[in-house]
Order: sequence, then structure tokens, then C-alpha cells
Amino acid sequence: MDVNSKVLRCPCCGASIPLKGRECEYCGSPITICYQTPTNKIDPIKLKKYIISYEKIQLQFDGKNETLGISYLYLKQFAKAIDIFDKAICETPNNANLYLLKSIALLAGKTPFSTPLAVIKEIINNIQTAILLEDKAVYHYFLAHIKYDFYNRKFLRISPTCVEELQIAMALGLTKDDIECLEKHLQYKIIF
Ligand SMILES: [Zn+2]
Repeated sequence: MDVNSKVLRCPCCGASIPLKGRECEYCGSPITICYQTPTNKIDPIKLKKYIISYEKIQLQFDGKNETLGISYLYLKQFAKAIDIFDKAICETPNNANLYLLKSIALLAGKTPFSTPLAVIKEIINNIQTAILLEDKAVYHYFLAHIKYDFYNRKFLRISPTCVEELQIAMALGLTKDDIECLEKHLQYKIIF
């Protein structure tokens, strides 16, 4: 691909695609991937192609960094994912899901239990920012998971508690889809 190209090409099939489109009309691949992209559209093998295409092209478009961040996350290149999510947050600080994605990258494929306290605190700060932007059930569910697995299992106190976070998540209408989507990005099952 021409580095200075003004045309976006589908990372999967190479067809030229409009910048405003949602998916490639030739092969059906999404042009950008976000937190809510249906998980059957996220294929770790294809994600390498997104990194190769989008890292090379200087063209800026909405969702480029979120796509790259998620691609690095799925390929378990966590430091790179954090770096890209930070850039994405600078560009669109009101996109609350970016703070959740960054928090998942901060876990670096480990459970909260095996994560250092300083990182746990950074994750909680990020999720609190997401909640200030948009009070979503999944953010409280993720906090409940962090609090259960790190604080409860180590007999440490934290307020609000894991149970309180779960109650808020339920009150906000937590769905099975919310949990499945979060677990897909975490790449493990959440157990309480
Ligand atoms: Zn395509």
C-alpha cells in the first residue's frame, strides 16, 4: 500500500473502501473495530492484517486507533495496545469504552489477583472515568470482578464493595451480552 495513499483499502481483501463506510462491500470485513463490534467479526488472524495496513497508512480516520488497540490486545501485545489506547483517548476523550479497553490491556492477560496493586489502582481510576462519562452496567460489573479477584481474595477492604458494584450493575440492567462481550475482550471467563 502507498504510504501517502488517500484511499483506504480493506485490510482483509485489498479493495478500496469509502472512509465513512462500516464494512467492506466486497468481503464484509469491518473497516473499523470497536468495543461493541460483534465478536464473530473479530478474528485474531485477520487482526494482524489490520495492524499491517493501518500502521502503514498515514491517513487518519475515525476509529483507526481503537481498531489498532483492539488488534494488539487480541494479539497479546499489551504494551503496544496501552500506547495506542492512550492515543485514542487523547483524540476522543469522551469515548468511555476506550477506558475499559485500556484497563483490559493493563491486566496484560493476567487475572486481577496476579496484577500489582499500582496497576489495579490505575484500572479503577480508568473505569471511574468511564463511569463519569457514561454510567454503564458493564463498567460496574468489571469493577466488581476486579474488586472480587484482587481485594476479596486477598482479604483487603475496598469501598464500594464487590457486592455493591454487582448490585449497581444489575440495577443498570446488566445483560448476558454485556458479560460475553467483556469476557471475549478479556479472553477468560469471569468467576465470582
Ligand atoms: Zn474486503
